[in-house]
Amino acid sequence: MLKGIGASQGYGIGKAVVISDAKLDYNHVKFTTAQNEKDRLQKAVDTFIKETRKLADDVKKSAGDKEAEILEGHIVMLSDPFMLSQMQENIDAGSVAEKAVDTVCTMFIDMFSGVDDELTKQRASDVKDIKDSLLHILLGVNQVDISKVEKGSVLIAKDFTPSMTGQINKDNVSAILTEVGGITSHSAILARAMGIPAVLSIPNVCGEVKNGDLVAVDGFNGKVIVSPSDDEIKDFEKKQEAYLKDKESLKQYFGKPTVTKSGIKKAVYGNIGKAEDVQNVLQNSGEGIGLFRTEFLFMDRQNEPSEEEQFEAYSTVAKAMDGKEVIIRTLDVGGDKDIPYLNIEKEENPFLGHRAIRYCLYNKELFKKQLRALLRASVFGNIKIMLPLVTCVEEVRKAKALIEECKEELKCEGKEYRSVDVGIMVETPSAVFISDILAKEVSFFSIGTNDLTGYTMAVDRGNAKVENLYDVFQPSVLRAIETTIKNAKAAGIQVGMCGEAAADTKLIPYLIEWGLDEFSVSPGSILQTRKTICEYDK
Ligand code: PEP
Ligand code: MG
Repeated sequence: MLKGIGASQGYGIGKAVVISDAKLDYNHVKFTTAQNEKDRLQKAVDTFIKETRKLADDVKKSAGDKEAEILEGHIVMLSDPFMLSQMQENIDAGSVAEKAVDTVCTMFIDMFSGVDDELTKQRASDVKDIKDSLLHILLGVNQVDISKVEKGSVLIAKDFTPSMTGQINKDNVSAILTEVGGITSHSAILARAMGIPAVLSIPNVCGEVKNGDLVAVDGFNGKVIVSPSDDEIKDFEKKQEAYLKDKESLKQYFGKPTVTKSGIKKAVYGNIGKAEDVQNVLQNSGEGIGLFRTEFLFMDRQNEPSEEEQFEAYSTVAKAMDGKEVIIRTLDVGGDKDIPYLNIEKEENPFLGHRAIRYCLYNKELFKKQLRALLRASVFGNIKIMLPLVTCVEEVRKAKALIEECKEELKCEGKEYRSVDVGIMVETPSAVFISDILAKEVSFFSIGTNDLTGYTMAVDRGNAKVENLYDVFQPSVLRAIETTIKNAKAAGIQVGMCGEAAADTKLIPYLIEWGLDEFSVSPGSILQTRKTICEYDK
């Protein structure tokens, strides 16, 4: 049996699909002759064109002409004699085929991403795809098409990037296993959002499990059985059945008000990462959105989303929630959330560095684009702006001043917008200590226990070795939460929690006692959270 961290509840059984993490590293490839390297290059290009043409035909049938056009565009780009001749020149100068591909494609990527035009910038992302595919072919590294795995697959990888999770068809994936990540890592958050059982931080799982092995995954206890016996399968299926029955019984809480036994009203909201997730919240009877992690809009692309793209995403969510509260967090980048094209400098201590609100206040143009999109989208619903990682009053005042500046600009441009409430995440000890002062500056708090636990306990939230200290029940963390709620109450502002602890059935009674108003949890935990609140006798 393999053991890891149970990061997304549920039981899953299925065939292993191991997604190799083979790096596209070609340092070991030796230069033979220029002719040989050119032949290797030509063969790789031919294979790429053949495979891409077949993929384009398949996509045309399944998704339509528009999607297929992107792939056909890749063929046209690579058929351009200029690109190929540049690669050949590199080979003549002594490069192996891999280096020639890397150098020339990177040159094009840099050139395209520097242009201030969305279509040209998209080209950079196309060339990146071409580069990766050619390097995979040249190095003989297999690429698994995650979107096409068979029903009943258990996906195994060192880690899942948002683009990998984005390709997952949740009907076909029974479970997810990784070698890294903890309960608050982004793989875990995304697995929970999709309702797929996940066990993370299993040492060497990519080596321990072979492609095609049958695996039974227990996402509650973080256990994985490879090649289970008939008895083990039966036992597993029994547990799965009982779990599904429990889940079914939660449906009685659909659409029910969230009130404690003695009639105190609370609200259960959902956390989302992209506009489409809003459906998941509605399907689970969420009363609002308590956290839209907008960094996901910025990830897995070559350039930042434009104001229009952001406006589209925020207004889609606002419309879908039909007047219910939608709390959108401004870009929370840095720390464990790297976005390469934003060129965040490598730092000794990224969690204590230039991240979140600090990065945004420094990169005003980028921040203002997001604020403008939020102000404009608020015309379509009940949007509130939430600032991440606040540590001092000045940050809030500066952000509010920028919001006012954006309003002025929009007014001059004749663009419609609404005034929106501004709140903060309380996720640093500093914000807790001054929460009485901060409460006078903002309309609401949302407690981010994922970071607050880490910063309070001085523990890296992704490091399995100090996992025992990463505990929301540590007295210091409990006191931090209690202080924040009490200071919000004293100032008369709304206080919610959007860290994972908001769904912790053992913590919920304390949160109710202290007076938390709103619990924002992953969509799959909404009904259980409502049940726990409704059953509490206060
Ligand atoms: C938190 O820190 O609790 C939080 C909700 O934000 P994130 O997990 O995205 O850092
Ligand atoms: Mg956080």
